[in-house]
Amino acid sequence: MPPPLAARLVELAQFGATEHGIDRRLFGAADAGARRLFVSWARASNYVIEQDRVGNVFARRPGRRVGAAILSGSHLDTVPTGGPYDGAYGAVAALCALEELDAAGIVTEHPIEAVAWAGEEGSRFPLGCLGSGAFAGLNDLHAIEALVDEDGVSFGAARAAAHGLLSDVPVRDGFPVPAGYVELHIEQGPVLEHRGARLGVVTAIAGQAHFDVEVHGESGHAGTVPMELRRDALSSAAELILQLEAAAAHIGEAVLTVGRLTVFPNQTNVIPGRVVFRIDARSVDEMRLDALRAAVTACAERVAGQRDVRIDVTPIEKRCAVAMDPRLRAAVAEAVTELGEVPFDLPSGAGHDAMCVATIAPAAMIFVPSAGGRSHVGNEYTTPDDLALGVSALTRSIAAIDRLLAKES
Ligand SMILES: [Zn+2]
Repeated sequence: MPPPLAARLVELAQFGATEHGIDRRLFGAADAGARRLFVSWARASNYVIEQDRVGNVFARRPGRRVGAAILSGSHLDTVPTGGPYDGAYGAVAALCALEELDAAGIVTEHPIEAVAWAGEEGSRFPLGCLGSGAFAGLNDLHAIEALVDEDGVSFGAARAAAHGLLSDVPVRDGFPVPAGYVELHIEQGPVLEHRGARLGVVTAIAGQAHFDVEVHGESGHAGTVPMELRRDALSSAAELILQLEAAAAHIGEAVLTVGRLTVFPNQTNVIPGRVVFRIDARSVDEMRLDALRAAVTACAERVAGQRDVRIDVTPIEKRCAVAMDPRLRAAVAEAVTELGEVPFDLPSGAGHDAMCVATIAPAAMIFVPSAGGRSHVGNEYTTPDDLALGVSALTRSIAAIDRLLAKES
């Protein structure tokens, strides 16, 4: 008997455990440990294990047919203060789903693969959904090789080092296009809990626009420069951020966040001369995302003019909103209903590997509730019952999607 989901998540959570949560960044020791553990479980269940050139790991359960597989999984990396379920749950649950198919004696038409995507969080190299994006052909491989982390280590060098690609796992050629994809994930928001729903069916994943902003003012002595003669970069940044917060609220069904900000020289008795921060804007509606983009430019120009500072805005990343496949959504909803639950449709404000895979294959996502909506924190929590129910829903969804896609091809 393979170990149950809950025990596996506890074991996995030891890799990268810190006092603030879990820190498992791509190609670090903890990340490599997590991937090795995933492989050891897959090996014990006799699945065919491969990795690709960017570090995604696949465990294949054969079907009646050879060829394109149905994929299910999520990521094993975390943000620096991550929790035990974000990503890890979906990757481990996919493996559990393959084992449940084994236990039930179900032979699928398609091969089914459990996948652990590499570097979804972008916590080490500055690119979100690195592994699934490369898999889907969205991220240029040469550009990925050249990415560097904060210590100046390139992706290519990290991949070749001890905690990079796994030495005992074959590396597959290229990135074979799957027949379909379904990802199970914690919601990371409060909606399911709030609505008393246990299984969410994702309708679409929000599009994202990120901007780097640099505010150039003038540094000076905190005691000697009169208020009216100051060009304070931090006050200007604060004003801009508040204006953007109001703009997002006004646009509606859109969110905008500044979660990282660096002040120079960051001294108590020195007027800030320069501030660097990043804007994260999201909506499932492209029109609203466009409106947010326009607001960023307009507000930056206005604040720069009013406060006599220079504000440079550089767009750094844009991902379009991605709708989940209606037929696969229906298959998931059917699986949820079979379990006696009411499928709850909701959009995802968080980005997921599914949004990359959805550009090359029909894709669906299932959410389970997050207590208090907490995620990206060490104490993110989902009840054991909900975790187990999610795996049942995933197993049934995989089987339903297999039947659906087999009928069509
Ligand atoms: Zn995640």
